[in-house]
Amino acid sequence: MKVFYSSDYVSSSGKVETVKKSRWISKQIRREGGMLDVPRLMTAEDAKVLHDSYYVDDLFAVRKTSATQAALGDWDTSLLKSIQASNGGVLSAVETALKEGIAGSLSSGLHHANYDRGRGYCTINGLALGAIQAVKAGKIVGILDVDAHCGGGTFALLSHPSVMSLGEFYSYDISSNDYDSEDYDPSKVDPNRFVLIKDQKEDDYLQEVQKALDFFKSKNVNFLMHNAGMDSMTDDQFSEETMQKREEMIADWCVAHRISCCWVLAGGYVSNKESPRNVLEATEDLNDPDLSKLPVDHSRVTREVLIELHMKTYRAMKKAFEQLKPLIKN
Ligand SMILES: [Zn+2]
Repeated sequence: MKVFYSSDYVSSSGKVETVKKSRWISKQIRREGGMLDVPRLMTAEDAKVLHDSYYVDDLFAVRKTSATQAALGDWDTSLLKSIQASNGGVLSAVETALKEGIAGSLSSGLHHANYDRGRGYCTINGLALGAIQAVKAGKIVGILDVDAHCGGGTFALLSHPSVMSLGEFYSYDISSNDYDSEDYDPSKVDPNRFVLIKDQKEDDYLQEVQKALDFFKSKNVNFLMHNAGMDSMTDDQFSEETMQKREEMIADWCVAHRISCCWVLAGGYVSNKESPRNVLEATEDLNDPDLSKLPVDHSRVTREVLIELHMKTYRAMKKAFEQLKPLIKN
């Protein structure tokens, strides 16, 4: 299974702490004998398929405007390179999955990025761009967003009539935190589903994932964009075991129904439930992530716990790829 990663993903890491995890995960994949592929860079033209052209031009010219600074503050060339590489990775993974069945990128779907401005660390919405790329290739696309936060940017971008006329796609957003839910207009929600699960049991969460997969099946979806956030565990109430079950359910569903899939990492943060985000400094060591040092207390999300969480997606999808590849016709 091809997994896209480049050191450019983390070229802005001084500014954006959470992208560092892609480097940690890339090392673990190599350690487990996996290979990594260098993605293409997203161009301004790629981004303009869904985003406002003035906004994209400002980003690529590194112009500081309220819109370009909305997600990440000061905009510079290292940030531009990181965004081009990480969104390019999503596009490369979609291109590969269209041919080979399943592929992934160690980047995020950046689901908060909206039509003409960034939000919540997201500037260009790779999840939506990837979905439309697969739609244009003739696929019926399901977008499963299981990042803990709402993907209001994706919803707004894909709800535009000119985009909806491009082909058939359906999104299903299962969130446990209402951040970025403002764009979900109930009158426009169907066929885009949005479920906010708060203070519910783990079984309810997994049942909702099953409902999403059943919904996609009822719509004859044959290509899945999986925004595999792990922040439902790291920020919220669900266990590591539930995250593992979720990833296996999704991967098994792809195999059972011969669905091609592009997966990306999405949210998931080093944190401590008592003092969120404070653990990063104490645990950070870019050169030596070591899963043999997993702490017993998983309420404390160290770098090792976070790597292990995201590796669940990689391992489940790799297994699915091996089962699916002989069945997928080019
Ligand atoms: Zn999130």
